[in-house]
Amino acid sequence: MNLYSGHINKLIDELASLPGIGSKSAQNLAFHLINMPKERVERLANMMIQTRESVRYCKDCCTLTDGDQCPVCANAKRNHRIIMVVEDPRDMAAYEKTGKYEGVYHVLHGVISPMLGIGPGEIRLKELIKRLEGDVEEVIIATNSNLEGESTAMYISKLIKPTGIRVTRIATGVPVGGDLEYIDEVTLTRALDGRVDL
Ligand code: ZN
Repeated sequence: MNLYSGHINKLIDELASLPGIGSKSAQNLAFHLINMPKERVERLANMMIQTRESVRYCKDCCTLTDGDQCPVCANAKRNHRIIMVVEDPRDMAAYEKTGKYEGVYHVLHGVISPMLGIGPGEIRLKELIKRLEGDVEEVIIATNSNLEGESTAMYISKLIKPTGIRVTRIATGVPVGGDLEYIDEVTLTRALDGRVDL
């Protein structure tokens, strides 16, 4: 049933296809946009296009960034010999927020999930292995503590072990199945301090 004009319906459909936005919110957002001054709508639309076009993967850690290198990788004060492996840029942001971690990161952009057909080749694992040819002292695996996160941690650990580089896993004080980005800073710091050798 088409309650609104074609354009409004299409806008509602597009908004509703975004994560976390149900049909009611999509409808509210659509009407909010329609009532906004034209310049503001243009600014918002341009910002979306510009962001989509300018954001790319950091050449070192694969997180999303505006330039060749993200600010963490570009920072000479960080310890570049310690690499924390996380699932996505939001996990990296969660650790950065604690202000307690001095190493650098590697962002996988996902985890291995046979059920979803995501194999090791689909995440940024090759890039991590390549980095290990440099001067690396420790790799901290901070994937989530759900099934996929744990098996990805095991998989990575087995790949790295033969190189002699220390491999650790963040402590499981973190609730099982909990997404890292939702966990508070104290818990994250504790998980990092209590990491164990794999
Ligand atoms: Zn980086």
